[in-house]
Amino acid sequence: NKAHVVVVGAGYGGATAARYIRILSNGGIRVTLIEPNKDFISCPLSNLVVGGNTQIGTLTTPYSGLAREHGVTLLHDTVTQIDPDKKAVQTASGQTIAYDKLVLSPGIGMDFEAIEGLEQANAQGVTLQAWKAGPQTVALHRQLAEMPDGGIFALSIPLAPYRCPPGPYERTCQVANYIKQHKPRSKIVVFDANDDVTSKGKLFKAAWANEYAGLIDYRPQHKVVGIDAKNRTLKFELADDFQANVLNVLPPMHAGDIVRKAGLANINNRWAEVKFLNFESALVKDIHVVGDSIQVAPGMPKSGHMANQQAKVTAAAIVCELHDLDINPHPVVTNTCYSFVNANDVVHVASVHQYVADEATFRTVPGSGGLSPEPSALEGQYAWGWARNIWHDTVG
Ligand code: FAD
Repeated sequence: NKAHVVVVGAGYGGATAARYIRILSNGGIRVTLIEPNKDFISCPLSNLVVGGNTQIGTLTTPYSGLAREHGVTLLHDTVTQIDPDKKAVQTASGQTIAYDKLVLSPGIGMDFEAIEGLEQANAQGVTLQAWKAGPQTVALHRQLAEMPDGGIFALSIPLAPYRCPPGPYERTCQVANYIKQHKPRSKIVVFDANDDVTSKGKLFKAAWANEYAGLIDYRPQHKVVGIDAKNRTLKFELADDFQANVLNVLPPMHAGDIVRKAGLANINNRWAEVKFLNFESALVKDIHVVGDSIQVAPGMPKSGHMANQQAKVTAAAIVCELHDLDINPHPVVTNTCYSFVNANDVVHVASVHQYVADEATFRTVPGSGGLSPEPSALEGQYAWGWARNIWHDTVG
């Protein structure tokens, strides 16, 4: 009769929460982790796959270590319903699983309906998002490789907030890097719904000017509102239609679909509001939400590093709550996001976030952050080190 925690989604947030609840409770709490995918595939570094600078296999880790090393019960299934009154979840295969505490970390859902024609274009493979690492990532690289020299790769970025603020600009570098080597008459055109580059702006723009002059055409305040799949054409709110060879359209994003379905995405029907001391839903007791699905505290990015940190705060709080111990009243979390501007050179942004009890939220600690002065190969080594460490910390 050990307490039972069910975790939904074995990505950066969920797998870390499952692993740390087992570690911190010394095996005293049963953990069932529900995830449809057979392997963990990292979104961080997946832009390198798009740019042809690494393989998807390098970013893939089997989940078996979580069961073998930590006694997590792994169920390859999808949660379709949550019943907070009965404290149980239902899965696609028809199982009903009861919980004492539920942790949701299903990542993002995508609002394909927000762009006319996108759902159909995406189903036909005319547009790809490749914003969940896996087959689409590989397919997007293939489209780039098969594009004729002189062709145009269009990337469209939705209004923030979306998963990984620097991610689209890193992708821009990776595509430009490939074009520079293999199709120098081609171009990447970036249509950004936002006013400007929203993360590491100066660093990215310097790299674009220094390394990729003439290859990147960046157009801020360009919001895609429609797709003509037959003519591979993007339609805009305020600008002329634009035809391209490759259409990499990132739709507006929201909390993972199960969070919305459970009625927990109470911020504009997009993100889940949580209590930051234990990441419990603001609406429903004993359901905790971490990772990209939450309405973040000021200054917190939607990143894998952040999801990992939130999961640890949550795991510690859950273990304390289930064992009648006081929870840590002063959690502190960190974030580092590395971006590859070419195959080897990297820039980073870092920050520290402290829980402020009076305001019941996290605040960025003044002076704690950091930004690279310029791209370097040494930071490239750090980035790979960061990745190997966090993969081990998540699913190792
Ligand atoms: P995920 O890691 O996406 O995990 C969600 C999991 O839930 C998935 O495995 C999914 O299959 C599962 N799931 C969903 N619904 C259900 C359901 N109903 N039942 C069961 N399982 C379900 N972050 C960084 O820190 N550094 C980086 O350098 C970085 N680079 C990035 C580059 C790109 C191109 C992208 C797209 C993202 C990048 N990120 C980076 C962001 C990072 O990937 C996300 O912030 C992180 O994955 C969020 O973790 P999560 O647990 O919320 O979601």
